[in-house]
This record gives sequence, C-alpha cells and structure tokens, in this order.
Amino acid sequence: MVNRQRMVDLLQQMTLEEKIAQLLQLAAPFYDGADSDGVITGPMKELGITEETVRQAGSALGLAGAEKIKHIQQMHLKNNRLGIPLLFMADIIHGFKTIFPIPLAIGCSWDLELAEKSAEVAAKEAAVSGVHVTFAPMVDLVRDPRWGRVMESTGEDPYLNSMFARAFVRGFQGDDLTNDRHRVAACVKHFAAYGLAEGGRDYNTVDLSERQLREYYLPAYKAALDEGCEMVMTSFNTVDGIPATANSKLMRDLLRDEWGFDGVLISDWAAIKELIPHGVAANEEEAAYKAIQAGVDIEMMTSTYVHHMPELIASGKVDEALIDEAVLRVLQLKDKLGLFDNPLRGADPEAEREVVFCEEHRNISREMAAKSCVLLKNEEGLLPLQPSSRIALIGPFAKSSDILGNWSWTGVKDDAVRLDQALLAKVPDSLVAIAEGSGIEMMTEEHYSEALSAAEQADVIVLALGEHSDMSGEGGCRADIKLPQAQLELIARLKQLHKPIVAVLFNGRPLDLHGVYDQVDAVLEAWYPGSEGGAAIADILYGDVNPSGRLTMSFPYSVGQVPVYYNHFNTGRPHDPKDVDARYVSRYLDVPNAPLLPFGYGLSYTTFVYGELVLSDEIMTVDRPLRVEVTVTNTGELAGEEVVQLYVRDISGDVVRPLKELKDFAKVSLEPGESRKVTFTIMEEQLRYHHADLQFTSDPGEFVVFVGSNSRDVIECRFHFVR
Ligand code: BGC
Repeated sequence: MVNRQRMVDLLQQMTLEEKIAQLLQLAAPFYDGADSDGVITGPMKELGITEETVRQAGSALGLAGAEKIKHIQQMHLKNNRLGIPLLFMADIIHGFKTIFPIPLAIGCSWDLELAEKSAEVAAKEAAVSGVHVTFAPMVDLVRDPRWGRVMESTGEDPYLNSMFARAFVRGFQGDDLTNDRHRVAACVKHFAAYGLAEGGRDYNTVDLSERQLREYYLPAYKAALDEGCEMVMTSFNTVDGIPATANSKLMRDLLRDEWGFDGVLISDWAAIKELIPHGVAANEEEAAYKAIQAGVDIEMMTSTYVHHMPELIASGKVDEALIDEAVLRVLQLKDKLGLFDNPLRGADPEAEREVVFCEEHRNISREMAAKSCVLLKNEEGLLPLQPSSRIALIGPFAKSSDILGNWSWTGVKDDAVRLDQALLAKVPDSLVAIAEGSGIEMMTEEHYSEALSAAEQADVIVLALGEHSDMSGEGGCRADIKLPQAQLELIARLKQLHKPIVAVLFNGRPLDLHGVYDQVDAVLEAWYPGSEGGAAIADILYGDVNPSGRLTMSFPYSVGQVPVYYNHFNTGRPHDPKDVDARYVSRYLDVPNAPLLPFGYGLSYTTFVYGELVLSDEIMTVDRPLRVEVTVTNTGELAGEEVVQLYVRDISGDVVRPLKELKDFAKVSLEPGESRKVTFTIMEEQLRYHHADLQFTSDPGEFVVFVGSNSRDVIECRFHFVR
C-alpha cells in the first residue's frame, strides 16, 4: 500500500534540484565507479552531470547483481540527504538468466497460464538480483514482419495481445507488489503504435486515424493497465506528426485523463533529446519543455530535465506543479515497492545463487519452448522421426547457441541447450552426422562438401536454419525477409539427394518461406526458443511432445504483400481466388492475396475433426448472450492439444468491419479418439467497436460466427443481434 501523505510530506522537504534529479535515470555504462564508494559515476560524463546530481538521482538502468546493488543502494541512502532509495530498472523481456522463448513465440503457445508463469520466473530471478522494475511487457500490435521488433510482441491480434499483456503483468507483479519481494513492477511499452512504423523500418513515422489507433493499437496497453501495470514507456515514433514523447494528446488526454493512469511514465532511451532531430524542438531546452508538458515523468538516457528544468521553472514557462506531480508519482512507486521500509527489497546474493537458472525454472522454460514451436508442414507424416532412421543434422543452427533471441542480454548463450547436444543426448545412435553446411549468410564449397558427406550417411536430413539473432530485435529490420541466400542454396543442393528433409527454423519474425516451404518435407518453426530450446525441439522431433503452437502473425506468401494480416477489411471489389483471370478486382497479378500461412495456423501429429456448429439461438440480445457449441474429436493416433478459435464478422457496420475478428479461444487436450464439446459465449460487449464518431458500441444486425483450427479453415453460422 502506498502511504500518499508520507510521500507528499517528503516531496515538500525536497529542493527543486532534488526533485528534478528524481526524474533522471542513470544509465549505461551503468555502474562504473560504484565498486569503491557505491556512487554510480559512470554516466556522469555522458550526461554532463555532477556527482551531487548522481547522489540525488531517482533511478538507474542496468544490472549489477545482488551484491553490488545492495552496496550501491546502501551508499546511495547514506549520500542522499532525505534518504530516498534508488529504483533499479532493466529490460527483463523473456526471462532473466533462464531465458524463455521470444514473446512472439510465447504468443504462439496460446497458453496464458504458462506465459504468466514465465513472467513470474523472470521476475523472481531479476528481483533477487536487485531489479525493481522491468521494461516489459512490450505489447505493440505488429503487422509488418520487416520490423525487427515483431519478435518482442505477441502478434497481430488486439484481443490475443491484450490477453497476453494481462498475463505478463500478472506474472511480473503478482498480487501484492509491496510485500512479494520476488516480483517486479511492469512497464508496458511502447506507447503508442510503435509497431506501425512505416515500411517496417525501426523508429519510422507512424500515421493512423484515431479510430484505427483506438480499435487495434490501444487495447493491449489498456489491458496491461487494467491489470494494474505500474509504469508506461513512450515510443520513439511520431503519431499524427507529433513524436509520442511530446504528444500531450496521447499522454495527458488519453493516458492520464481518459484512462486515469496515475503511475509513472518514462521516456524511451534518449527519446526526449530525439525531439530535436525529429524536428519539433530546436534545442534541449525546448525538448525538455515539450516532454514535461506532454507528461513524461522520467527521462531515460539523456539529461535535458536536469539541465534545463530549473531555468524553465524560473522563467515561469513550466509550472513547478508539473514537476511535483511527476516526482510524487516516482516516490509513490518506490513506496509501492516497499523501498522506503526495505530499500534492498529482493536483492539477495544467496537467493540469487539458488534460484537463478535453477532446474525448476529451466523445466518451465523447456515446457514453454515446446509449446511455442509451430509445425508448419509435415508431408507424409515425416515427423515425428523414427528412432530407427539415421539422421544428419546440418545447418548453421545445428551447433549454434545463438538461440536465445535478441532481447536476451541477461542470459548466457553458452548455457543454452543446443540442438546437436539435445539430439546426442536423446538419440545418440540415430544421429549419424553433424555438419554446419553453411554459415548464416555465406556458404563455401568446403561447407557444402561437409554437408554432402553428412547427408549421404543418413536416411533423413534435419536442417537447422535461420536468422542470426541480430537480424531481428531493435534496429534489426529487413526489407527481404527470406532466409539468407546461402541457406536457400544449401537446401537446393541437398534436395538433389532426394532424401526427406526436415527444416527447423530459428528466427525472430515471420519469414517469406520461398525456397524453403516448397522444397522441404517438414518445417518446424522454433523461433528463438530460449535456454532449453534444443531439448524442446528434440522432444518435438521425436514425438515426446506433440506440437500445439499456432501462429499469431501471418507468414506472407511474399514480402510484397506486407502488411498482410487476417483481420483485414473487404474491398468493394473482392477477388474470388478461383477466378484466375479476374481483372479490375482487388488482387495481385503475380501472387495470391492470402498469406502463405494464416494467423492461427499450426499442425499437430494428430488430426482434429470439428462437428457442426450449434448456436443456442438465431438471435442474441444484450440479456441473452449466444452460446456457441462445437464438438472436436481427436481422430488420430496420438494425444494432442488443439486451439479452438472463435471469430466473428459483423456483416454491415457503421464503418467497415474486418472479415474476421478473434473473440475467444480454448486450448483443449484430447486423447486419441476422444471428443470434447467446446462451448463459447458471445456477449454484446464482444460485438462493440469504435464507430465513425469514436463511440464504442455494437450494431444490431447480422453476424457470422466462425469456429476452426485457424483463421482460414473454419466452419460458420449466422446469427442476428437484436437490441
Ligand atoms: C528500447 C526499449 C528499452 C530501452 C531500455 C530502448 O532502446 O526501445 O524497449 O526498454 O531501450 O533499454
């Protein structure tokens, strides 16, 4: 619980300089100088600040380990006139030392409970190491796989992203942040619509209608806040011509006034100073002015507030009340984390040694990794592999430990279970040869002859292919999202041996699978699966785990279709794909309109058959929700999990409505031959959307409900909603 009065009293004792320093975040190279006297002098030069300011600073970004954090905090309290503890923040995105699959992969699990658990594990490991706040979850809706940061999101659907946003916040924060020292405060990011960067190029312009913003991009941030998320981070991009970090409409009008968010708002890395190159501030003073007016509390990585706020206040341009509000929010967060009473919070070297990367955590990571893999193709039931088949493991990821993903800076690559290690442990006799076969971007003849001799000894070739982890993540954008040419060449050459090929893919985005999907017999999308990745993949390859992941972002047929996503609109001239000669319709002449693999798609080693869709009525009303029932049967020979997906289309709206929108789903586990009745309830709230006047209401009229195993393969029924 926050003792607001205590914080207000504290605020009143602070000098203006002390207050402004609370809004400064000390950053990289983080903790230099802190060894000897515990003062973080490292960033002084870069930020142009004095040691006195460091002693008064409000927060620090980075990691140092429990021992050092304890020392820094103790010294900070000694040096700080009013004894205000430092807040330690860091990017704990998909695990701390136990690395989980990248968030895009976690999304593909459609497993909210396990996602929550993964965040809880990450929080625990980070908390005992001295972290108080994580810059996660990232919930930006993503429709453009060229953008490297799609790996940090759970995908293209606002409803699913909202559910994951909530799960992650619950996992990080728990339900008693003050007393549960093994949790950290969450900071949802990047506010707002960062995922819509033009051309998929990072930091680029975002321009969209307010209706679109509200309908698709905002729900997941809002969901995180409804779940109690303590902090929000601004985004780098512009929204309607104004960088988010100076955008009062976004932050004051929407976030604060409309949504009532009273937690801390932090700028993204250097985003305040970047208002200058953006072209909305002539200098640092104006940048500081615009950011504080727009509502940014903490400045990350730059120091425009420290340098210019005193003058802005003295000249009357900025009202000191704005600073007071911001500082009070920071103090309240510290109080919420219990730091005034227990400034060391979770930091505990002994616990750190015990829980960080412990077996229990690694097992959870392994389970998550197995659930995140998506089986994209499996001709002739090639998978699961027979232990009697001799396999050759070939490719740049055969022995690579670069399987943690781009946001796993806290993890240790060498600790990751590689695919070769896992296969050697599981099927030592089947694995007859291992070869790199190609670098990620370059293949030599030597590589190739090695691959050839490995392949010749085997019955089945397992190709481990993918992108280097730096090819996605922040600043990791690509205009061509195919696998690098060297690897396509490797596939093409090995194909000449006429042996069955399984491709296992390690990558951070939906790829254009030309040269892969059409060439090999089976494709398993493993993403960056984290610390236990190799083990999880081996489990799937040999059928110890039946794959149940489903894509949460469409795989384009060709990059030229991008953005291509399932919940798009119809046009006035829709194209019937059967009409191959159609002209003057909405189509490409050279590629289909549909993605190669749609949202929700993923295969299993068993088969699921859907019975008829049964509705409780043809008419639904506000008081009489619609019950939708379907019986799903496992008609195969293995137990498996199916993600039963429910979509709705509003046939005629006030504005154009998407062809389908995910409204609910159920993950069901079925034994061979087992049937299960799955029941969904559609309520009026689920039919609401933002009308032309931005009102969030529903329309009476005709609707289609679809149920199926992905957004393409569905059965459907119509109903009427009557008010
Ligand atoms: C990223 C944020 C991250 C921050 C702090 C920025 O460059 O955009 O997502 O939280 O750095 O590391």
